[in-house]
Amino acid sequence: KTALDKILWQRSLQLRERQDYWEKSVEGQRMLECRRCLPAYKQRDVVLSAISQNQVIVVSGETGCGKTTQIPQFILESEIEANRGALCSIICTQPRKISAMSVSERVACERGEPLGESVGYKVRLEGVRGRDTRLLFCTTGILLRRLLVDRSLRGVTHVIVDEIHERGMNEDFLLIILKDLLPRRPELKLILMSATLDAELFSSYFGGAGVIHIPGFTYPVGSYFLEDILEMSRYRLTPYNQIDDYGQERLWKMNKQIPRKRKSQIASVVEDALRAADFKEFSPETRESLSCWNPDCIGFNLIESLLRHICENERPGGILVFMTGWDDISSLKDKLQIHPIFSDPNRVMLLACHGSMASFEQRLIFEEPASGVRKIVLATNIAETSITINDVAFVIDCGKAKETSYDALNNTPCLLPSWISKVSAQQRRGRAGRVQPGQCYHLYPKCVYDAFSEYQLPEILRTPLQSLCLQIKSLNFGTISEFLSRALQSPELLAVQKAIEYLKTIGALDENEQLTALGRYLAKLPMEPKLGKMLILGAILGCLDPILTVAAGLSVRDPFLTPLDKKDLAEAAKSQFSRDHSDHLALVRAYEGYKRAEEEAGVYDYCWKNFLSIQSMRAVDSLRKEFFSLLKDTGLIDGTPATCKSGGNDENLTRAVICYGLYPGICSVVHNERAFSLKTMEDGQVLLYSNSVNARETKIPYPWLVFNEKIKVNSIFVRDSTAVSDSVLILFGGSVSKGDFDGHLKMLGGYLDFFMKPAVAEMYQTLKKELDELIQS
Ligand code: ADP
Ligand code: MG
Repeated sequence: KTALDKILWQRSLQLRERQDYWEKSVEGQRMLECRRCLPAYKQRDVVLSAISQNQVIVVSGETGCGKTTQIPQFILESEIEANRGALCSIICTQPRKISAMSVSERVACERGEPLGESVGYKVRLEGVRGRDTRLLFCTTGILLRRLLVDRSLRGVTHVIVDEIHERGMNEDFLLIILKDLLPRRPELKLILMSATLDAELFSSYFGGAGVIHIPGFTYPVGSYFLEDILEMSRYRLTPYNQIDDYGQERLWKMNKQIPRKRKSQIASVVEDALRAADFKEFSPETRESLSCWNPDCIGFNLIESLLRHICENERPGGILVFMTGWDDISSLKDKLQIHPIFSDPNRVMLLACHGSMASFEQRLIFEEPASGVRKIVLATNIAETSITINDVAFVIDCGKAKETSYDALNNTPCLLPSWISKVSAQQRRGRAGRVQPGQCYHLYPKCVYDAFSEYQLPEILRTPLQSLCLQIKSLNFGTISEFLSRALQSPELLAVQKAIEYLKTIGALDENEQLTALGRYLAKLPMEPKLGKMLILGAILGCLDPILTVAAGLSVRDPFLTPLDKKDLAEAAKSQFSRDHSDHLALVRAYEGYKRAEEEAGVYDYCWKNFLSIQSMRAVDSLRKEFFSLLKDTGLIDGTPATCKSGGNDENLTRAVICYGLYPGICSVVHNERAFSLKTMEDGQVLLYSNSVNARETKIPYPWLVFNEKIKVNSIFVRDSTAVSDSVLILFGGSVSKGDFDGHLKMLGGYLDFFMKPAVAEMYQTLKKELDELIQS
């Protein structure tokens, strides 16, 4: 032990020497000057003394005040100064991979080191850290995984949970575990960081933890809603320097200098937007129609005209555009790149900021453009609080963000753009006032803003709990409902029961709520269980290649486009990919064509001709790789491409695996003379979404359709579907895990009885008898 102590002591001294050396160097001094300007730096001593006096503290402070980059660093520095450098181990979690990577790089740079020395990061599949890494930035998921093997976080001295205001599922989950752990690890310190002033909630959850608020400063930001933008497009904005009171005075005046033609062009775009979405009133019905508002058709033109307006008429300053997701961002970027203003590098520096950007792109975001060049960043809500882009003076806010929403009654999850909360809208606006007074354009009317909810619901209350339940089980946290009742805000009992029921139906949990073999594998795959199931069976049966495409396709925006004015052409294009009553297999073929086109460098042509979204196809491509590596992690495949195709190219096999994944999303096909109708057990009659290949048929030579999701508009619609036969449903519907064999057959029997297909029921009885005998023997 003494030898070890000696080594640690020596390493601590080395760390201290290194730190002192850097702080005294010219560059180190310069860096320190920068850091001293941040509001968080002024609270350095307050924060450090609070940490030493409390086991748990909550730090709140406006975005950009320096929480993420400074506070973990203060702890590290003070430990090193106290010659405990080699003894401390600080973990700082981030909700997103991209922020863990970008922040760790920044912190290492502020310490004058390359990444992987005292500062490192670890995200799934990637990481840079070394023997001496004392401060590790990681995603929340990584820390949860570590807890799987090391319940008490041995050796860890500080855990910092960042961005807790977002109330992500993983963070809420982590807090339950940490709350449990703290009494057992009295020397472990927990620091929670939030960008909003809801510190009390967290403080009382931890029995009155210390609270520190870092005061910030923002310049005033003028806000314009859609109706204002409409006015502005008719009457030009008054030049900025003639206005002294942003919020009060109307910022537009008649200006005859704008050519009439352009004025009317802009105005008509905005008016179209108003008409299409019927923004005049905001009743529940309108709300529904607003949620269908398609930013592709309206928002893009509006954003483009606003960008042009700012570039041509406004004073210098960066523009930050909040959009819903990567696919929208890349579509808009493609559109802007052929525009004379936005494609001119001497005028505009056009960048994207989203979760899957490459690291060189990340660096560009923080770079200052040459003088006369305007920085335009198209971002997802990542730029709302996680990543602070300096020198932004204009914000364009589309008002939406992609979030998983969930209807507990219908058990239908979906990742769709939905309206943000008031707090988010304010955060977005605040981004414009960091370095100078700014302006924010909200692309929705004031009445819509007034109807936003105050806060966004925590993820645990709005998304399906299936994956979370699997995690709880695999971490051995006892009864699911008891565990969840200890959450900051517990989900409804109904939602918990639904999730457990679903997991039993698909065979991930047995009757006693214990993980089955399948469940244990599913718990290792961070994705919706249905996708996990498909991938697992696809791997086992050697038809992983098409299944990777299907699973990826289910996770992105529909790659098959149906422009309103070319609906027939688009549907015809889709149907040429289909020969066998399956939207999923149509995508598999479309993707195969895409890969061939890629080899010939003709993807644009290919996608254009076939009405395919190039963004979605790219997303499918990258998700396939991700799923593949996740499967490799579970040890089910050895990672060679051969494993994907060992089952040959049998489409019926693929169909069976799709059925295995999508069950219990099934409906019965009922034929009458001229057409067919569909029925599910829970809803009765359902309709097919119009762009399904099956919607064009008058007859389906199969008795069942399995589908991915139901959408309730006026009637209930089912989206992508695949036709399957009786035997496929019997053998692949639900689970065929050993312990629950009987339960599974009973349930399937229930389905079959319900739909009263005598032949099938008979077949099922025979099969059951045979299988019973088999089990007996
Ligand atoms: P908070 O966590 O309070 O929102 P941060 O610690 O993320 O604030 O950021 C503090 C400051 O550091 C901001 O001004 C931000 O722009 C800057 N910053 C963060 N990352 C980088 C980077 N990679 N390069 C340059 N500046 C950065
Ligand atoms: Mg931060």
